[in-house]
Amino acid sequence: MPDTAHSLNKATAWPKQGPDGLPCYPMVIGGEYRAAADGGWFTTEDPFNGRSWAMIARGREVDATAAVEAAHAAFETGPWSRMTATQRGNLLLRLADLVERDAVAIAEIEMRDNGKLASEVTGQIRYMGAYFRYFGGLADKVQGATIPSDKPNILNYTRLEPLGVVVAITPWNSPLNLTAWKMGPALAAGNTIVIKPSEYTSASFLHLMRLVEEAGFPPGVVNLVTGFGAEVGAPLVENPRVARIAFTGGDEAGARIYEAAARGMKPVSLELGGKSPNIVFDDADLDQAVKGVVSGIFAASGQTCIAGSRLLVQDTIHDDFVARLVAFVAEARLGDPSDSATQIGPIATRPQFEKILRMIEMARSEGATCVLGGEAASGAGLGQGQFVRPTIFTGVLNGMRIAQEEVFGPVLAVIRFHDEEEAIRLGNDVAFGLAAGVWTRDLRRAVVMSERLRAGTVWVNTYRSTSFTSPFGGYKRSGIGRESGIDAIREYQQVKSVWIATDSEVPNPFVRR
Ligand code: NAD
Repeated sequence: MPDTAHSLNKATAWPKQGPDGLPCYPMVIGGEYRAAADGGWFTTEDPFNGRSWAMIARGREVDATAAVEAAHAAFETGPWSRMTATQRGNLLLRLADLVERDAVAIAEIEMRDNGKLASEVTGQIRYMGAYFRYFGGLADKVQGATIPSDKPNILNYTRLEPLGVVVAITPWNSPLNLTAWKMGPALAAGNTIVIKPSEYTSASFLHLMRLVEEAGFPPGVVNLVTGFGAEVGAPLVENPRVARIAFTGGDEAGARIYEAAARGMKPVSLELGGKSPNIVFDDADLDQAVKGVVSGIFAASGQTCIAGSRLLVQDTIHDDFVARLVAFVAEARLGDPSDSATQIGPIATRPQFEKILRMIEMARSEGATCVLGGEAASGAGLGQGQFVRPTIFTGVLNGMRIAQEEVFGPVLAVIRFHDEEEAIRLGNDVAFGLAAGVWTRDLRRAVVMSERLRAGTVWVNTYRSTSFTSPFGGYKRSGIGRESGIDAIREYQQVKSVWIATDSEVPNPFVRR
């Protein structure tokens, strides 16, 4: 794989290799590639072979402050602040081309960091280019309005202005892709940005920063700080110069960030977890539904926020459908994520691996029946990896924790339902509301279900599709705000109302009119 840290050709002040000869990945602040101020580093592991493969700069509050100051200076006085929306858009279009050019190299780094299948991660990185292109194109197409004022002799119009410094904090499951969802609209709107990736998947961000530089973004417009949530993420959120937070991650960290943002009166978007129902009616095309259910929960080893982890199956087809599902999934091939024959890769982090196994035991102790998997997998072809066999529980009651809590792993809870009303009640009886799937051939039912399910995305006879063209976000505990689609840019703008008198005379305030 390409050694990004070594191929950087800028004058730098960080060691190229750590004590064990591992390459070092620095931060990027104000266009400079830097070690943490206190010289701290931490290692990042390959979840397939369990080995440390790189060192990442361990940022602290002082580094967070430096990054925000650089972003603030770029916003207030740098060349970025004088660029037209068209010029900003053109930079994003160039970045789109560069990301597509380097997609395979970037994907290799991400695969090494989080164990996602090469095929999936390469597609995701290529698709990032589409996000940059969409928002680059949009930059000079959103506009204010001229207001037909009820006051005489006044020109009143609105300007859509950027907010200032945006902080983007992202998780490990789709590291760069979820960052593009924030960078595209934030930069198109004219903000500057500080990115804080997950401590588990920071390496690919350095490659992105090189492309940001190559595209011609002025220094300080995009900054990268790496490290742990409490050490460098929290000080970023608290920094009074930060105007907005865009967060994707778990609901615990999300709640902490929301509290801190409230103290600072900062707008936030929170893209959080899910426990999404995938609902199969007896009139569905069952062969198609099996594939949709499998991709909903077992793609990326279930480590996706939109995982359809609650399978609701109508009584009349329950046993038949479960049998088809088990037969289909039992064939899935676990293995090296870089091997094109692999269908299920390792779990990205050790804590997540342990959490999944604990939740499997919890489901057993609650009385659910494990009909497939239910254990870690090891042996030939599985390296030292953290593999969990695709797991299916039947006999799940909606009140059980396995039906209510996010596992973020390859574990499916199957719940029976009798009719449409019960499917709606069970589907909505959960704290989250990120997504839902419905499998039916009945048009009326498709419309009714999509209206009544309380989720930010409803898929009918498909699952998992997302696009730069379509709003994405959660109802209920799954979050606040929407990403993607035309309106996403408005989340990074504020409206100014400008009043200009066209009368040369200011009325005497002491004369009543
Ligand atoms: P996490 O919440 O542990 O961490 C996410 C990010 O927040 C990391 O960069 C972390 O360092 C940072 N962080 C943690 N505490 C912080 C704090 N106090 N202040 C500032 N930053 C802090 O999540 P994770 O384990 O990396 O990712 C898994 C979670 O992400 C799952 O719950 C999943 O559902 C969710 N997720 C949601 C979406 C979505 O779009 N809704 C997409 C992907 C993942």
